Formats: sequence, C-alpha cells, structure tokens
Amino acid sequence: MEGAGARSTTPGGLGCAGPEEARGWLCPEHSDRPAELFCRRCRRCVCALCPVLGAHRGHPVGLAQEEAAHVQKLIQECLQQLETKKQHQVGNITQIEDAAEKLKAHAESSKTWLTDKFTELRLLLDEEEMLAKKFIDKNMQGALQVYREQVESCRKQIDVMGSLSSRVWGISQEPNPVQLLQAYTATEQEMKQHASLGELSHPVPLSFEPIKSFFKGLVEAMQSTFQTPLDVRLKENINCQLSGSSSTTLGTLLKTSPSPERSLFLKCKTPGVERRWRGWEGQVQGGKSNESPPPPRFLLKRPNLCFGFFKNFY
Ligand SMILES: [Zn+2]
Ligand SMILES: [Zn+2]
Repeated sequence: MEGAGARSTTPGGLGCAGPEEARGWLCPEHSDRPAELFCRRCRRCVCALCPVLGAHRGHPVGLAQEEAAHVQKLIQECLQQLETKKQHQVGNITQIEDAAEKLKAHAESSKTWLTDKFTELRLLLDEEEMLAKKFIDKNMQGALQVYREQVESCRKQIDVMGSLSSRVWGISQEPNPVQLLQAYTATEQEMKQHASLGELSHPVPLSFEPIKSFFKGLVEAMQSTFQTPLDVRLKENINCQLSGSSSTTLGTLLKTSPSPERSLFLKCKTPGVERRWRGWEGQVQGGKSNESPPPPRFLLKRPNLCFGFFKNFY
C-alpha cells in the first residue's frame, strides 16, 4: 500500500483513467478508497466518497473508466481532425502551387498576346504613315502638274507676244505711210488685245498642315492616354469593371470553410452521448442514493468535456 499511496499523491489529469490504472490509484483524501471517479470541475480522479462527503461535494463527477473511454473517443476525433486539417493544408499547398503555375503560364501567354497586338498596332501605324506620305505625294504631284501646265501656258504667251513684237517692230520700220497704216490696221485688233497688262500668277502654296494637324492630334491623344498610369486606365475601362478583374486584389485566395470542427462539435451534442451520461447518472443515483442523495446540480449537469477539447479549433 506504500507504493500505491505514493502513486496516489499525484492523481488527476486525464491520463489516470485507464481501466487497470484506475484500480491502482487511491483517493488523496480517502486513502483507503480507489480513485474511481473523475471530478469534472477539478479535473482530477477522486473516490466515490468525495462528491458526497469530501472536498468535491456537489461537483459533477463521472466514472473514471467511462470518462477515459469518452476522452479516448475525443482524442481519436481530435487526431482524425488534425489529420484532416493537415491534409487540407497539403491540399492548399497543391492548389496554390497549381495556381502559381497556371498564373505563370497565363502571364506568358498574355505577354505573347500583347506582343502580337503591339506588332499589329505598329504595322497599322506603319501603314498609316505610308498612306499619309502617299497622300502628300499624290497632292504634291497634282499641284506640280497644274504648275507645269501654267508654266507651259506662260511660255506659249511669251512666244505669241514675241512674234507680235517682231511684226509690230517690222511695221514701225515701214517708211511708206500708206503701207504703214495698212499694216497697222491689219494688226490693230491683235495689238489692242495686249493693251492691258496680263494677269500675274501667284500659285497658292499647297498646304499639308491639315494632315500634320490630324496626326499631331492623334499623337497628343495617345500621349495623353499613356500619361495616365496603366492600372488607373484599366480601372476606368468599363469592360474591366464589368468583369471585376481589376478590383481583385493581387494574390487573393478564395477561402471556403468545410467547418469539420463544427460537425465534431455537434457530435458532442448527439443524443447517444447524452444518453450515455444520463445512464451513468441514473446508475450512480441508484447505487449511492441510500447513503446520501446527490445534489440536484449533479443530476442536471451535462458533460462539457468537448468544449475544452475543441475550443482551440475555434
Ligand atoms: Zn475521496
Ligand atoms: Zn472537485
């Protein structure tokens, strides 16, 4: 009994409630009685007298063996829960790594797409530049043709006037007045046609300012657009707003909760468990009531071990 007594100095805790061990432990208060009950308030093993007469009077107690069996069940559930949660975390890592790989591939394909689009844009701009230059060339050639025709016309008039000048000068050299008058009257109409000074041609210079102005505006519009930071522009883009992609924070993870903890918590409240406790209470009440009836609280108290066990999961 010496050895058993020494062991009984440290009873309590959930580990003391094994079926074989329970018989070996003695009550620290009533050293001749085995610590076969578990005080749920003090969290230690006590003897059958303790909840009736001793320091644990009125405390909710349970059979150590049944308590241990129940605790074993909770431990197994806890281990299973931990394993499930571990698997969830492993699954999370797989999901995130998979998402990272997909993201990298998506980023690469998006950049390739951008390369194509910008190449397309450059080709469009090159084509536009070529068309604008062609437009200038075509208009210049048209105007030059008109200028050449005018120069040709001027030369013809010079020739006509040169020929007339020669003839008129010839008439002026006529010594015979009758001959001179005859020659003059024959040329008079032609000479009168040149009485007034001819028109002076001032070619209106062809202006390419409109086309320059158009492309200046286009460049300024693009510069103005590009001055705004890209992320701001994307937010302003209606399509982006509709798809909601721009409002998503970088690296956001969508979290769903399967809440297995909740289902375990509900298990603690299952009628089966409650029936078991009620059965034990009836047994104790029936067995010990002849000595001293347990306090009413003892009967009403429901087991709440599961709260302590799983509170860390919440
Ligand atoms: Zn005792
Ligand atoms: Zn107690």
